[in-house]
Amino acid sequence: MIRVEKLNKSFGDLHVLKDIDMTVRESDVVVLVGASGSGKSTLLRCLNFLEMKNSGTITIESEQIEKETHNLNKVREKVGMVFQHFNLFPHKTVLGNVIEAPIQVKGLSRNQAEEEGKELLDKVGLGDKYDVYPSTLSGGQKQRVAIARALAMKPDVMLFDEPTSALDPELVGEVLTTMKELAVEGMTMVVVTHEMGFAREVGDWVVYMHDGKIVETGRPSELFDHPKEERTKAFLSSIL
Ligand code: ATP
Ligand code: MG
Repeated sequence: MIRVEKLNKSFGDLHVLKDIDMTVRESDVVVLVGASGSGKSTLLRCLNFLEMKNSGTITIESEQIEKETHNLNKVREKVGMVFQHFNLFPHKTVLGNVIEAPIQVKGLSRNQAEEEGKELLDKVGLGDKYDVYPSTLSGGQKQRVAIARALAMKPDVMLFDEPTSALDPELVGEVLTTMKELAVEGMTMVVVTHEMGFAREVGDWVVYMHDGKIVETGRPSELFDHPKEERTKAFLSSIL
């Protein structure tokens, strides 16, 4: 579970996150939506401690995480992240990408890491691609490798930052299907996406952000069909 309370983040004079309060319960899928620049990526990056908050608290699995008292690398092991631009290691094979962190960071034996890595690649539908290099894969396949690589660390939570935005339209579905399977298995997920079909079908909650603040949170059907706030209505009519 993640609990965020009164989170603030600035870049210099730019106040990007303003008193964010958010709770993500075990096995919840929370979909973050909002205009460009509203702070969605910054919020995800704060949850993963790729960015350091200025104030407020972040509690993960009932531990309040502070950089002074916690090993942030350990925390990051528990919070997997998938980016828009895959960020695979180009000089490593698909399986090499997946086993790197379990071996280097967790100290797994190569055999153990390979066994688990192959299982994950099978799961994301890449059982025939262990030994190829990322450059030979489609965008959808690359993104599924990135998901398998994040899962290889056995995270408690997975963060997705527009995982399908860089893909050709015909490749979006395969990545969303993989994410949906993960959700059905009970993974706790926070997903920034413009895929409103996914938000409706898979999301437990939708959080709408505007200008660094959470404007409205609701069940997908409530928020999409009966938004309460004028801001939310304006945003929804701009994207539909
Ligand atoms: P998008 O939908 O375009 O991805 P977003 O909602 O993810 O937008 P953020 O990337 O979180 O928005 O950015 C929020 C604001 O913070 C923007 O004004 C952005 O320019 C600024 N910002 C983000 N990262 C940095 C940084 N490292 N340094 C300075 N400003 C930043
Ligand atoms: Mg972003």
